Amino acid sequence: MNDLLAFDRRHVWHPYASMADPPAVHPVASASGVRLRLADGRELIDGMASWWSAIHGYNHPALNAAAERQLKEMSHVMFGGLTHRPAAGLVERLLGLLPAGLECVFLCDSGSVAVEVAMKMAIQYWFAAGQPRRKRFLTVRGGYHGDTFHAMSVCDPVTGMHGIFRGALPGQFFAEMPPAGFDAPCDEASLSSFRNLLDEHGPDIAAVILEPIVQGAGGMRFYAPRYLKRVRELAAAAGVLLVLDEIATGFGRTGRMFACEHAGIAPDILCVGKALTGGYLTLGAAVATRRVAEGICAGGRVFMHGPTFMGNPLACAVASASLDLLRESPWRERVLRIERELRAGLDPCRTLPGVADVRALGAIGVVELRKAVDADACRREFVKRGVWVRPFGRLVYVMPPFIMQPEDVATLTAAMREVVGLQAAE
Ligand code: PMP
Repeated sequence: MNDLLAFDRRHVWHPYASMADPPAVHPVASASGVRLRLADGRELIDGMASWWSAIHGYNHPALNAAAERQLKEMSHVMFGGLTHRPAAGLVERLLGLLPAGLECVFLCDSGSVAVEVAMKMAIQYWFAAGQPRRKRFLTVRGGYHGDTFHAMSVCDPVTGMHGIFRGALPGQFFAEMPPAGFDAPCDEASLSSFRNLLDEHGPDIAAVILEPIVQGAGGMRFYAPRYLKRVRELAAAAGVLLVLDEIATGFGRTGRMFACEHAGIAPDILCVGKALTGGYLTLGAAVATRRVAEGICAGGRVFMHGPTFMGNPLACAVASASLDLLRESPWRERVLRIERELRAGLDPCRTLPGVADVRALGAIGVVELRKAVDADACRREFVKRGVWVRPFGRLVYVMPPFIMQPEDVATLTAAMREVVGLQAAE
């Protein structure tokens, strides 16, 4: 292939992209630490951690070693009727980090599939309990849970893909968005739409599903722990299950190992993905309480899911090494330091025209504009400044690897101030 870009443009489909008029893409030759090295030799400080996942940075010696070790043993064997140390070892480590009570782990392919699995678990739980009518889900507006069908059905009905897939998606119940802000006061009135839907449709609802504390791809919004705590209480009182999607928030991103810890609550089923393998390989998991697992399997029933690459040893071995790295690192101090630096570095954006809000929580920094940005133009400006930031909609945001040093965070936030300034001036 002589010309990668020409070939790519003609034949390789990119995420959320047109094949008729493909967006510009940058060829990456390698990545190391917090830097992406482009094919032309330029280096970019990575503000995206490859969509929340590369928490330890790229080309990490411990993760590389784990992958190489495992490759020499076996990269994959089927999980039906077989098991292996990489999977059991990963599950043991996960259980050591997860809130108590979550102990039955279903390993699967990706974040979206973990959400599908969790939703199937909820439906099967009620089927086994003699309540097969409970097949629907209650969530809040502004959410994002993935691109597969049931996951899409609980994404925000306006900004998600409901319009295109109308009639093909199951209809779910959407409460008003939680009040914006981690520190937002959260009175009972702010929960009234959630409570009303639960009261009205309770007997049809299998589970409530939410992203805890941070609504990610649906708008990078933060909400108060108290809201989540009340959702936990209301779901329990109504006798419906609670599924928490920690795919973006899990493994320290918000300053807690799992975001539900901010509210001191635990769900009945929790989904993880993204940072689980430190961004090396695709892997997700849906983790249920013993009560849910035993409910599903009552009367000799089985859980009806079993992907080909379930428990992939290579992914599990790297994930185990990633969790060891995380546990042994001062991740909390690092994330809270990055939070302070993001806040300090982005706060001046508040005075720029066209900026609606600036916020940071853990290693997540967001500048929200009043109008949609020109994403392509922004990306070009970021690349000129030696950083990798990929805005969407009205949001210019970063979620860097936890190992990013203060001077690189400073370069990142300086570039954000400048690029937001250029956008705001337009
Ligand atoms: N849930 C959340 C909260 C996510 O942020 C994402 C990915 N952006 C997903 C689910 C889907 O994960 P994946 O892209 O691995 O399918």
